[in-house]
Amino acid sequence: MPVITRKIEIDLDCIGLSDEERKAKYKFIYNINDNLYKVANRILNQLYLADEIDEILHVSNQEYVDLRKKLANKKLDDATKEVLQQQMQQVLERINEQRKEILQRPKKSVAYSLATINNPENIYGQILTVLKEDILSRYNSDALEIKRGEKTISNYKKGMPIPFAFNQSIMLYYDKESKGYCLKWFNNINFNLYFGRDKSNNELMVKRCLGMSEDGVKYKACSSSIQIKNKDNHRKFFLLLCIDVPQERYEQIKGMVVGVDLGINVPAYLATNITPERKAVGNRETFLNERGAFQHRFKALQRLQSTKGGRGRKHKLEPLERLREAERNWVKTKNHLYSRDVVNFAIGVRASTIQMENLKSIGKNKEGEVTDTKKFLLRNWSYFELQKMIEYKASRVGIKVQYVNPAFTSQTCNVCGVVQPEARDSIHFVCQNPECPNCGKEVHADYNGARNIAQSKNIVSE
Ligand SMILES: [Zn+2]
Repeated sequence: MPVITRKIEIDLDCIGLSDEERKAKYKFIYNINDNLYKVANRILNQLYLADEIDEILHVSNQEYVDLRKKLANKKLDDATKEVLQQQMQQVLERINEQRKEILQRPKKSVAYSLATINNPENIYGQILTVLKEDILSRYNSDALEIKRGEKTISNYKKGMPIPFAFNQSIMLYYDKESKGYCLKWFNNINFNLYFGRDKSNNELMVKRCLGMSEDGVKYKACSSSIQIKNKDNHRKFFLLLCIDVPQERYEQIKGMVVGVDLGINVPAYLATNITPERKAVGNRETFLNERGAFQHRFKALQRLQSTKGGRGRKHKLEPLERLREAERNWVKTKNHLYSRDVVNFAIGVRASTIQMENLKSIGKNKEGEVTDTKKFLLRNWSYFELQKMIEYKASRVGIKVQYVNPAFTSQTCNVCGVVQPEARDSIHFVCQNPECPNCGKEVHADYNGARNIAQSKNIVSE
């Protein structure tokens, strides 16, 4: 079942508290906030250290190395194999003993032991129990790549969300007196929830979690977290509410595929393999205007920096960094919108599959940004992020996502399948094949590409 996260502003409920009590409660939360990341990193690093020790114990054990070599021989007869396997078993047990001596505990329970022992920062045990889950899942998803040297260990940072699980004493509730929603937390701490303008319907989500919504829909709140952010020398609290949303079911048409083409004229274009439905995702003018505004601001900043060099330089890098951050956020927001459009279209045509071009074969740089000049609209765009968002949103409604080889998708007629590099300009594709029913007809170039991607059987497995 898919889990969604909603960010809701909260604040400490101080009604009826003395000054001292109030201070103590803030201190309790700040203390966790300022120390949790250290504990999290300690546990995570311990897991990797255990791996490291494991590897050393194995490769430095000559008996183990020899036995492994012998066992790899495919021509072994069963009797010899059994003897070797028994010897191997003994060696592995000895290694396991050595490991226990070094780590004091078996590997799997390292995280748990560390999470439950008294720690100097006095972090609440229940928080650590949830945190342990998060660390283990992070470890499980990254360990292989880290071992291969394709990734570095990602550390938890100060101010990381403080996780907790809901139970009989930690819960959301509706306070009839104040007519507001509250969170009852550890240590008799109460938070009030604020929805503000509530553009994303957070209040409805909370109502559904409490079984109070008018539409009768019920969701389950699962392990969530609290995050503290510093804003203008003022700490703001947020509840990152995780909600288990039952997967929406709808009747899919088997073999109905939606193709997503990277924009030549629009950010993305959608078509199906069998029906005439199509859709342009995003608007060219809006997109170019917004991107243009960023480029303008970058240039203005650069001018400012080049005219006044010297001592002020360091100081002026900050606005540049902020502008970059703003641009990244803009890209992310756009990708959210586009991916939602793609998946909504796929649901609308009851597709079972979404097909996209495989990034690896498109001109792009290290960061996965498209550099292909033909895909000018999304040049330097994080197409990888867009694809990941489409994958995620599609998986939530049970639509499969697969990738096709992007070669010739824009140069092939979607009706007769003949490759014709000359048949398209930037807007139209006109088939030149006299035997094709579409010969001489002007077809929207993006539509032609999207339909080819939808029809493609050239699946690239990743
Ligand atoms: Zn044709």
